[in-house]
Amino acid sequence: MAYQCQRECYQQQFSTTVVSCIPTEQKLEVNGRKETVKGFHVVFKDAILFPEGGGQPDDRGVVNDIPVLRVTRQGADALHFVTSPLPEGCEAHMKVDWERRFDHMQQHSGQHLITAIADIEFGYKTTSWELGRQRSVIELDTPGLKPEQMEFLERTVNEKIRASVPVNVKEVSVDDPLVEQVRSRGLPDDHAGPVRIIEIEGVDSNMCCGTHVSNLSHLQAIKILGVEKGKKNKSNLIFIAGNRILQYTDQCFSVEKALTSLLKTGPEKHVEAVDKIQKSVKMLQKSNLNLLRDLAVLTAQAFKSDPKRGKLFTLHRKEGDNEFMNIIANEIGTEETLIFLTVGDEKATGLFLLAGPVEMVDSLGPRVSEMLEGKGAGKNGRYQGRANRMSRRSEVTTLLQESLELHSQQEE
Ligand SMILES: [Zn+2]
Repeated sequence: MAYQCQRECYQQQFSTTVVSCIPTEQKLEVNGRKETVKGFHVVFKDAILFPEGGGQPDDRGVVNDIPVLRVTRQGADALHFVTSPLPEGCEAHMKVDWERRFDHMQQHSGQHLITAIADIEFGYKTTSWELGRQRSVIELDTPGLKPEQMEFLERTVNEKIRASVPVNVKEVSVDDPLVEQVRSRGLPDDHAGPVRIIEIEGVDSNMCCGTHVSNLSHLQAIKILGVEKGKKNKSNLIFIAGNRILQYTDQCFSVEKALTSLLKTGPEKHVEAVDKIQKSVKMLQKSNLNLLRDLAVLTAQAFKSDPKRGKLFTLHRKEGDNEFMNIIANEIGTEETLIFLTVGDEKATGLFLLAGPVEMVDSLGPRVSEMLEGKGAGKNGRYQGRANRMSRRSEVTTLLQESLELHSQQEE
């Protein structure tokens, strides 16, 4: 295949004609979720929207002001997915989403350069690569890279960029002896037409179908962010090129500014400050838990030492947990007292515990849970769960009081 976008990688507009338009369905990402969308696959006489290939994602753009949502390759054809039909033979004016395309060109040519230098300098072959949305990854056939090697690699690729090395595209036939000499990971099975060779003058020749910058200076710079362990003794080298470096720096700086204002200390002390906060939060959580336990014991003791105490004990506390409620129930004892405890948001959701004489709790538990629109379970005189309508606590208390009165009348 050889499209206009491969011959003239910098061309942003192009007029051609529609060859075919076939109704179809296409899986697309809509608001971060994959959806099947009905539309049409349109093939043009020639195309400037790049269909995916060589690790480079497909282009976006418009045809006669209709957005092209996806471009895929099928043999020698580039299928343009649109949601409105374009009649066969009709004139088509195409425009490339240039910001997206140029970003892809910078990452892709950047990959060729890093791949070439890693091979020349260290003999590390590239086994695959991925042009990511934020950062790109080159899989190198080595179990690891030393920090000095990374530094050297970054310095060397940026020297080549500063030297404004030209990048040339050659088209040769499949049987040309040149094809055997260049770096390649093989042609796809459905390859058709001439072979494209991307040459970084004096550095590298590589078989590739992607769109590339015409001069390394158009990469602006390459930043190697780091290296991670890959699969099976390989390493993943993470990099960004061109405008992405400016965008990334922008993001980093605004995060840094926000942290400086939150932590009230300069960037060189951010890590130290966060570490200190995390440690103190852990300590506070621990002491808070101890206080909550002590409070539970004291609350129970205060109730038990009240000579005028009744047979019902209810308590709501915003801050608390199941343990807090169970300690109170244990301390008060449940043979004679009916205990109804809740923790959480007073009007919305929280936890509840009903404890007391076994047969009372057995019959009242599910009713209490229902009143609070919650979900609970229990046995041996304890019924607890989650409540979704805490505002109905007073209704529950009334129910419990009535049940106690009925219970004592029965006993008399
Ligand atoms: Zn390539």
